[in-house]
Amino acid sequence: MSWSTSGGPGHTRGDGAVSAHAPAKINVSLAVGPLREDGYHDLQTVYLAVSLLDTVTVRRAEGLSVTVTGEGAEGPDPVPTDRRNLVWRAAELLAEHAGVAPDAAIAVEKAIPAAAGLAGGSADAAAALVALDALWGTHATRGDLTALAARLGSDVPFSLAGGVALGSGRGERLTPVLARRPWHWVLGLADGGLSTPAVYAELDRLRAEGRLPDGAAFPSPEPVVAALRSGPVEALAAALANDLQAPAVSLRPALRRALRGAIDAGAAAAVVSGSGPTVAALAADEDAAVRLAAVLAGEGLFRTVRVVHGPVPGARLVG
Ligand code: ATP
Repeated sequence: MSWSTSGGPGHTRGDGAVSAHAPAKINVSLAVGPLREDGYHDLQTVYLAVSLLDTVTVRRAEGLSVTVTGEGAEGPDPVPTDRRNLVWRAAELLAEHAGVAPDAAIAVEKAIPAAAGLAGGSADAAAALVALDALWGTHATRGDLTALAARLGSDVPFSLAGGVALGSGRGERLTPVLARRPWHWVLGLADGGLSTPAVYAELDRLRAEGRLPDGAAFPSPEPVVAALRSGPVEALAAALANDLQAPAVSLRPALRRALRGAIDAGAAAAVVSGSGPTVAALAADEDAAVRLAAVLAGEGLFRTVRVVHGPVPGARLVG
């Protein structure tokens, strides 16, 4: 494959900086298999990339550095700015792959809250791969970047691809899905995140106690895929599903009220996104989403709300 994200000098600003955006994701459906012996779970998910974007800007520098602004930059458990940040590891992996020195100053502007079930860290990693490929002129193919993305985390290939996709394996094996129309959502953002490993552990615990089905058989993703392709909204509303919702609610009981509040406020349906605690509320159209957001913003169920739509493209250069 000869696809390249490198835009050449056209994408390098006067100061030598290169920026890329990458989107948040919603899991429109997420089925989780039983705990495997290696500690992982098989997934079957339908991802939708939505219009809440992080921006990663890279500049030439000596050595590697990361700064973070926006969502999650401050507070008791801030997004790390060292090797633990996924963009740091993305830079090291791409540099190793291309045989160049991992020299860059990386600035991450976060609109996607951290530990929210929206794959914000994965979005940043995908954007960093695309931006650094252009800055360093490494001319990685799409296949190369996808392989590096899969090594960084199971959601990173989707953050790179965007759109709608069926994910299997740990989420990293993608099959693109066609959606002929945009879908409008309100994201209800919570105060404080939920740790993804903790939510999986709670799922395993509830299953071991027989309080949830064991997840041994995945339901067909076809109803979700068909509904996303062409609607109507009632079909998509009926198809939303997330095996991580029950454990997320178990760890964060206020989510039950938030989900009910979204329906009472007029959402066609509401689901916890990924491992939560973000609530994704589906609206019939854009006007309905704006009205829904106004009602939810006044109710205090969420720290804040965002009107988004999807599908949108994956990580791409800005400008
Ligand atoms: P997912 O839905 O993929 O499980 P999430 O949206 O719940 O992920 P992220 O925001 O991707 O969670 O980040 C989870 C943790 O990863 C954070 O608590 C943080 O410590 C660490 N992290 C590393 N790099 C980043 C980054 N660039 N942005 C946010 N968190 C990061």
